[in-house]
Amino acid sequence: MYLTETESIQLPTPPQMNNHGNYIISLGNFCRWLGQQAEELGVEIYPGFAAAEVLYHEDGSVKGVATGNVGTGKNGDQEGEPGIELWAKQTIFAEGCRGSLTKTLFERFNLRDGVDPQTYGIGIKELWEVQPGHHQPGKITHTVGWPMNQTTYGGSFLYHPEDNLVVVGFVVGLDYKNPYLSPYEEFQRFKTHPAIKGVFEGARRISYGARALSEGGIQSLPKLTFPGGALVGDTAGFLNVPKIKGTHTAMKSGMLAAEAVFELLSANAESRAGKPRAIRARSSKAGCTANCGRYGTSVRRSAGGCGKP
Ligand SMILES: Cc1cc2nc3c(=O)[nH]c(=O)nc-3n(C[C@H](O)[C@H](O)[C@H](O)COP(=O)(O)OP(=O)(O)OC[C@H]3O[C@@H](n4cnc5c(N)ncnc54)[C@H](O)[C@@H]3O)c2cc1C
Repeated sequence: MYLTETESIQLPTPPQMNNHGNYIISLGNFCRWLGQQAEELGVEIYPGFAAAEVLYHEDGSVKGVATGNVGTGKNGDQEGEPGIELWAKQTIFAEGCRGSLTKTLFERFNLRDGVDPQTYGIGIKELWEVQPGHHQPGKITHTVGWPMNQTTYGGSFLYHPEDNLVVVGFVVGLDYKNPYLSPYEEFQRFKTHPAIKGVFEGARRISYGARALSEGGIQSLPKLTFPGGALVGDTAGFLNVPKIKGTHTAMKSGMLAAEAVFELLSANAESRAGKPRAIRARSSKAGCTANCGRYGTSVRRSAGGCGKP
């Protein structure tokens, strides 16, 4: 829908925003389920610890990450627990939008040379329990226009999953010119529009949150691989902006990176066992310093020839 302050105009659905046949799910629930599957396969998950530093081998390739120290006093006056080092043959970074370690990798390996700068938006989202009469399971609404003006990029989404729940959110491009604009206030204003407010009459807000989005698209994708590791998901910038979807591309890039790493490490194992090499790694250290370039090629193929290596 296109919104003016008082009216709403139904627009034709752009093909990339057609969601017929798709499921509306809770990503939190999905990740919890997926985490269980991974743990059952022997994957170790360490929640609650941020990777605070990238570790490097002497030859400059990535060796792994270190978690931050914990328990130190505010002024460093209290002795805490030192972080731990996690070493890997290949380290895959999946930090989400504008990852703090990823930024250091961009610089160290010049991964952003020759690509467009990344651009960003802020997305604010709320989960509501609405009156049964206002709930239409499976309904999806996207709006552009009011309360944004003609020069400010932004729009909303409303999803109706199960159990009388409605997910409502608003995204604002972070290149807005008006320094007084508050994305949060604009989101609250959006919910008062005559075409929208009915959904929330008698409703109860259950939770809310906000997060940045990478909005640069394909031309802003950095080089994805470097000696000892690779970037996947939003930290690389895989969000599909016209669709406002990044979970599928995050998962697919993770799968392609995993396949490339598996192939690389298997080739190294075979070569150590005296078998012919399927892939020529740049080092004999079992893929530690190799660049998993096959991942970049797979992404390009998956994106129909327009991804960057
Ligand atoms: C409001 C909003 C609505 C959206 N709606 C949709 C939608 O409907 N459909 C869709 O497909 N996509 C949607 N997206 C986009 C989607 O959320 C992202 O594209 C997707 O989550 C990217 O997955 P990711 O794993 O790359 O990053 P994230 O989901 O951001 O996960 C990265 C994780 O790494 C953690 N992390 C970061 N740095 C470190 C560190 N140094 N050490 C340890 N952990 C770290 C972060 O805390 C985070 O948990 C939406 C985004 C927003 C903001």
